[in-house]
Amino acid sequence: MLTQAPKGTVDMLPRDAHRWQSIYDNMRAVCERAGYREIRTPVFEHTELFQRGVGDATDVVQKEMYTFEDKGHRSITLKPEGTAGAVRAYLEGHLGDSLPCKLYYAQCPCFRYEKPQAGRLRQFHQNGVEVFGAKDASVDAEVIQLAMKLLQANGLTQLRLTINSIGCPDCRAKYLEKLRAYLEPKLSGLCKTCQERFERNPLRILDCKEDAAKLADAPAMLDNLCPDCAEHFEKLKSYLAALGISYEIDARIVRGLDYYTRTVFEVILDSPQGPLTVCGGGRYDGLVEELGGPATPGIGFGMGIERMILAQDLTGAAPAEPALYDAFVVTMGDSARLEGMKLVSELRDAGLRADLDHAARSMKAQFKYANKLGAPKVIVIAGDELEKGIVKLRDMAASAETEVPRDQIVSLLAK
Ligand code: ATP
Ligand code: MG
Repeated sequence: MLTQAPKGTVDMLPRDAHRWQSIYDNMRAVCERAGYREIRTPVFEHTELFQRGVGDATDVVQKEMYTFEDKGHRSITLKPEGTAGAVRAYLEGHLGDSLPCKLYYAQCPCFRYEKPQAGRLRQFHQNGVEVFGAKDASVDAEVIQLAMKLLQANGLTQLRLTINSIGCPDCRAKYLEKLRAYLEPKLSGLCKTCQERFERNPLRILDCKEDAAKLADAPAMLDNLCPDCAEHFEKLKSYLAALGISYEIDARIVRGLDYYTRTVFEVILDSPQGPLTVCGGGRYDGLVEELGGPATPGIGFGMGIERMILAQDLTGAAPAEPALYDAFVVTMGDSARLEGMKLVSELRDAGLRADLDHAARSMKAQFKYANKLGAPKVIVIAGDELEKGIVKLRDMAASAETEVPRDQIVSLLAK
């Protein structure tokens, strides 16, 4: 028990740190090139933020949230997603003073009480972006392009972008009447969850895997958009075409969170083990107002980091673990060791990753250790050569050794 992490959680072990770091570095580089700035919000928020923001009738709020009462009798929830907190911080931090406001968040911990399986955890992490104050479909295309670029930057290429429009409150209300009229006579033949959703969240019924075949001829939101929403979707398609981004239209994407309007999208990776959704997002033009701010359009996406790592593993795109050191210093004798400490410190100051043995091992064992760590260069300091002002530089791959003046070794390696 003590040596077992809670169900649905995993450690990021040192051997995977480089993967998390490079996903973070790519996030930062790609987003900052497009004018997005980083935001970090707390791990917990007032429960009401998610009830209002994500929506009371969603699975996330009804079944999956980690909610508890704190010692001050407030209802607190560990964030199940990144957007509601970002909107709260946008309003509280007056980020709307100059619009549009483009934000990104990285390695955001999210918590959902789900049935754990591959790529589905109870604590997971998301990278994401949010844009406030831009209503043109050009920003929808930009956000989608960022998502694709980020996935590609991490070596994921077998990607399928699926898009849909779920309209605005006006056309959706009219559509939902149609949908309910279509569903009503079929209701007794549908699964229990669908029956529960009929009143509160009928759109989600279209997302049911179990009943999909029975509902194949259901009316689609996409065929029932109002003229403005239809025009927005047409514009999005032409922007995507102009950017050379291919897509599929999937009228069944409804997304799990209530705040979406108009554009919704998912990016799916086709792996030998089947499809894996790595990214989901969309427009949420009513959310800022719903959370107490002025009417402000918004759009964003969330991308699961553990899913990306799994996707890399499934498609052979996992980056190799880099060697821990650029150089390892092997010493023999006490005076050599003193000199070794100095040299390692100089190498580190010159920006090289360097180390020496701290376990008082034999010279042979030091070499073995350096080899195991994959250090490409080993510097040997031995008493007699040191007196002549010389160290030995060994190229491990070539098994070749050269003598180098002590006062030139750092600049030589730093080159
Ligand atoms: P799914 O259909 O897989 O349940 P979702 O629609 O609930 O996903 P979103 O709320 O859109 O997911 O979250 C965005 C992304 O976060 C997903 O595309 C996925 O990469 C990741 N994600 C969601 N839930 C989990 C989880 N429990 N464990 C790991 N990653 C997750
Ligand atoms: Mg889910």
